[in-house]
Amino acid sequence: MNRPTTRSKNKKPKPSDDVDKISDTLRKIHASGEITQDDINQLYNIGKPVCQGCRVNAKDNPNCFCGLIPSPNGSRKSGIWQKMSDIIQSLGPDPFKELRASLDSPAGLTNLGATCYANSILQCLYMNTTFRKGVLSIEVDVLRKQPVLDQLARLFAQLHASKRAFVDSAPFIKTLELDNGVQQDSHEFLTLLLSLLERCLSNSRSVVPRTIVQDLFRGSVSHVTTCSRCGKDSEASSKIEDFYELELNVLGLKSLDESLDDYLRVEELNGENQYFCESCEARVDASRSIKLRTLPRVLNIQLKRYVFLPKTTTKKKITSAFSFPRELDMRKRLCDPAQVDLIYDLSAILIHKGTAVNSGHYIAHIRDEKRGQWWEFDDEHVSNLGDHPFGEDSSGHKSKPPQKEPLVHSSPVSAAGDATDVLPQFAENGDSEHSEIFSSADAYMLMYNLRQTNVHLRKTSMVLDANNTETERTDSTSNDITSLPSYLRDEVDELNASYVEACHQYKLRKETTLRLIEERRQEVRLILSEAPVQSFEEPFYWISANWLRLWVDNIMPPVLDNTLIQCSHGKVHMAEVGSMKRLSASAWVKLFSKYGGGPALAKDDYCVDCLKEAAHKLVCADSYRDRRKTVKELADSVLSGNCTDGTYYVSKAWYGCVIFCYVFPIDPLSLPVTSQKCLDKSYLGPVIEYLRILEEIRKIIFIKCEDE
Ligand SMILES: [Zn+2]
Ligand SMILES: [Zn+2]
Ligand SMILES: [Zn+2]
Ligand SMILES: [Zn+2]
Repeated sequence: MNRPTTRSKNKKPKPSDDVDKISDTLRKIHASGEITQDDINQLYNIGKPVCQGCRVNAKDNPNCFCGLIPSPNGSRKSGIWQKMSDIIQSLGPDPFKELRASLDSPAGLTNLGATCYANSILQCLYMNTTFRKGVLSIEVDVLRKQPVLDQLARLFAQLHASKRAFVDSAPFIKTLELDNGVQQDSHEFLTLLLSLLERCLSNSRSVVPRTIVQDLFRGSVSHVTTCSRCGKDSEASSKIEDFYELELNVLGLKSLDESLDDYLRVEELNGENQYFCESCEARVDASRSIKLRTLPRVLNIQLKRYVFLPKTTTKKKITSAFSFPRELDMRKRLCDPAQVDLIYDLSAILIHKGTAVNSGHYIAHIRDEKRGQWWEFDDEHVSNLGDHPFGEDSSGHKSKPPQKEPLVHSSPVSAAGDATDVLPQFAENGDSEHSEIFSSADAYMLMYNLRQTNVHLRKTSMVLDANNTETERTDSTSNDITSLPSYLRDEVDELNASYVEACHQYKLRKETTLRLIEERRQEVRLILSEAPVQSFEEPFYWISANWLRLWVDNIMPPVLDNTLIQCSHGKVHMAEVGSMKRLSASAWVKLFSKYGGGPALAKDDYCVDCLKEAAHKLVCADSYRDRRKTVKELADSVLSGNCTDGTYYVSKAWYGCVIFCYVFPIDPLSLPVTSQKCLDKSYLGPVIEYLRILEEIRKIIFIKCEDE
């Protein structure tokens, strides 16, 4: 049915009073053929009150402009009434958030999926100023031929001078051809990286970078077997093997001291394990141990937190607490005890979080050599830990308070082989700060830097250079980099310039957007405040409620569009009264002049044709209902037995049509009637049968109507 008052069955039904009034008006229009201004006011709801404070916008009131903008504390999910924070977020990431606080706070490295192990190691290497300086002094022609070195130098240059708080490690990781998605073991990574760098750097003609890996990280050991009978060492014992890290057991051991003892422990070879002495020419009891020949400037200690479980053929992480000192005295660990102090300062702790071997997360706590500050490197995020490697008020990683009496730890057998030797665990100078001991259940790798004071720098260098006498030494305490080589400087400058430009563009975009939003909000508030029309006499314009909402919400509203409320005659259809609003002339002029489009539909643009058509349809529907009632009464009387012979018999075909008409709203009386009077009495039975069917269908139809 196309009666305007029940246009959509989804709509809340109008109060029956209104429906009756509208129907009466339409019947009156149909009867008289005339439309008065009062009729228009009523049919177009023009007389509805100008309201205020409706919770939601009243659709059936063209004078209601309530609820179009959210309440002062409210917001929308999109458009100009979003929360300001959401609008700012929609501008994309804020590059200012990536701004590095200062060049004194180290930069982070992006995580490419599961590359935190590599990032942690790279930060450990970068934070070593000697290593950094070495990498940054590689000759340009060597860099051109060695992509790994080239990318490492670029990475270091950016870490050094980038204005961004974190640097993209992808180009470097790419040259290593690692699988970014697979978590690797940081220890394996460091070993591979150092040997790769050592190989690449051998192409350098410049002394510092050429041997920087060996100079910093390489120490040497011997595996010594001593005959208990003649006291001679085996031939193989004089063989010196290089190491770049010490791999220490932690299973069942509580401290670095215990682990070093374990590493240097003397193993007795007897019984089935007896050793064949070349001198004695016999199988004899012997002792075997690892002897530390030389120590590197950067002592890299790997803690074997992963133990292989033969039963399940898996690795298990040992999560017991392990303690290590801030200051490590290695003098007496050497097989030929050094004549000078060999004091190492804790410089980095690599931490593995999580229990699984190939997952979890790596972070590094590294000491800034220049200022002595500790920093936590967690991929992009770098945070200051102060003077303490685990932060000033850290929980979980406890440091033991300095004890007044130096803790005397009895070592079963010292490196020098003197069984009665006693190693004091604390520095003899009694400096309590350096005597601190830290404990961690996650520390996976420790880096200790040899303390080089001017007083004994020369001497220690000599000790360390036992295998490397031709190497020149530079004083590592004065290796601050004040400027980068120009080729690297240029690249960083370029990156910084484009970053600054991105910041500038973002700032501009943000300012423009916020200004636009503010202007739009003001415009909407102003125009809506003058939108209501106060009297019948005032001129007014119809506006599509649909477009009005777009204009209220959108940052960039579309062209004004009133076509949805237009009828086929180009006028305003009364049926659209729920989809339009009545605007004051001043509000209309503002919108129309700014947004164009249209068409302008004014007070007098109501559609007479559509009104008359609606009136006609209503009256037709009235009479159809009347006639249907007649047919129903006819059927009822037949079924209740009031069938007078020769009165109500009709043809089969006609009743077939009647049934059809109940299903489809066609006037049954308008159908051609073949025979209204049945001549053959024997037809009565089938006719009654048809009427019964008709009745059943009627019930169904009526039940259906009630449901609706
Ligand atoms: Zn309202
Ligand atoms: Zn012997
Ligand atoms: Zn991670
Ligand atoms: Zn029309």
